[in-house]
Amino acid sequence: MKKNAPEEHIQHLIDELKDKGLEPMPLIGTERVVIAVIGDERILSVRHLSSMPSVSKVMPILHPYKLVSRETKHENTIIEVKGVKIGNGEVVVMAGPCSIENHEQLLSAARAVKNSGAHILRGGAFKPRTSPHSFQGMGEEGLKMMKEIADDVGLVTISEVLDTRHVEVVHDHVDIFQVGARNMQNFELLKELGKSDKPVLLKRGASATIKEFLLAAEYVMSEGNHDVILCERGIRTFETDTRNTLPLATVPLVKKLSHLPIIVDPSHGVGVRDFVAPMSLAAIAAGADGLIIEVHPNPEKALTDGDQSLTTEQFAKLMDDLGPVAKAIGRSLNLH
Ligand code: PEP
Ligand code: MN
Repeated sequence: MKKNAPEEHIQHLIDELKDKGLEPMPLIGTERVVIAVIGDERILSVRHLSSMPSVSKVMPILHPYKLVSRETKHENTIIEVKGVKIGNGEVVVMAGPCSIENHEQLLSAARAVKNSGAHILRGGAFKPRTSPHSFQGMGEEGLKMMKEIADDVGLVTISEVLDTRHVEVVHDHVDIFQVGARNMQNFELLKELGKSDKPVLLKRGASATIKEFLLAAEYVMSEGNHDVILCERGIRTFETDTRNTLPLATVPLVKKLSHLPIIVDPSHGVGVRDFVAPMSLAAIAAGADGLIIEVHPNPEKALTDGDQSLTTEQFAKLMDDLGPVAKAIGRSLNLH
């Protein structure tokens, strides 16, 4: 739509598209409103649509993902959760343990990451473990604990949702849903989260192409939830010295193809504690909107992912080092 298009022109167009049996989806930007239309293009007369009041341009989207595409929405999407903005140029840091283990562990991790300036507390309560015999997470009890601690310490929360049956309970206690790499193509879960009013952090599957990754985000957006944060967490290659291979080219590539924010998870990306800080700095230098980092008060004793968890001291040092890197590329790191 043209800049400053009146509400009645927008509504008129939406009604007309609905009458044709198409699915119009308005994307409200700061500059203008874009109306994405999904359906059989043979029903549309581009010439007729172009002549409707306040229509600026009618354009076919060639990519298989539509709502996610930067062709559809030129401006960056900014997602706001309880005052924390993701995608607005400032670097956002999510940090905390891989798993919520007990009250003392989570409280000390939360206090430490908050003191170092992190914005969002991470912690898994439903854990996607490779073996059914490994610790599966504290479930709802863990989420309740996280909510209480985060409210107390003053942090926004993110936690993984593994299954459609858990969407409600995770929604009740957590601010941002995390969809793990193993669930990137769990389409029923994506559709369910698409109906939610809370943002979704979608991790790239270990063997997913960028196109598949963006199409997974399209599933969430297609159901109406446009608050999707993408996350590169490493892919599986022939390399065995690192847990995964972390392709940072994903960041500029996704920025080119999509308006959605993208962050990087260097912890799962490399799986080795000593490589987490350098890859964090590199991710920010590459243009990532933020990071999600595993931090544990005592990594040696961690029930999950201890080898890749930073100590609270290492995390504090990393946060100090991030500021100048962000600044060097014209970004900032507002400490929480
Ligand atoms: C995690 O964040 O602890 C996790 C399981 O991540 P991923 O889905 O990327 O493996
Ligand atoms: Mn983990």
